[in-house]
Amino acid sequence: MEQLRQIIRDVPDFPKEGIVFKDITPLLSDPASFRKAINLMAEPLAEREFDAIIGIESRGFIFAAALAYELNKGQILVRKPGKLPADTVQVTYDLEYGSDILEMHADAIESGQRIVIVDDVLATGGTARGVADLVEKVGGKVEAFSFLIELDFLKGRERIADYEIQSVLNY
Ligand code: AMP
Repeated sequence: MEQLRQIIRDVPDFPKEGIVFKDITPLLSDPASFRKAINLMAEPLAEREFDAIIGIESRGFIFAAALAYELNKGQILVRKPGKLPADTVQVTYDLEYGSDILEMHADAIESGQRIVIVDDVLATGGTARGVADLVEKVGGKVEAFSFLIELDFLKGRERIADYEIQSVLNY
């Protein structure tokens, strides 16, 4: 765990002044660290019953894809506007540096399906909250959230307090 913590690079003042960006690219380029990260994220999810995994564009895709493969689940993409080709549903949400829109295919989730939502970092929780709203809008159920990193001091957890939240590294 300490090894994972050390390989994640802090980049101060990115993308703007005052934000310390958690750069996961050194972790991704180290096979042992990436494997360890996926195993630690997969472990608690393996015990849960659910139907599919959502990855949030774009770093969320990396972790969601590996978890979907490992846990033998399908992956659903939540993307920035204009990227998905078929009919979409949208959500507008707030984030640490501004506000944004995310989209998902309108037929990606069947009513009642249980979904695990995956991203690299839980910061203010605005993105996570938005994606949970998107899942519920189409009749899905949020089984759990899984993050590699949780920035405790931004209190993102409070915005998704009604859901199960798993994170590997807390800062
Ligand atoms: P939030 O909506 O504030 O929880 O932000 C979550 C999204 O923004 C995630 O997709 C993260 O990849 C990204 N993000 C926010 N803050 C940081 C940070 N300090 N370091 C790295 N990624 C971040």
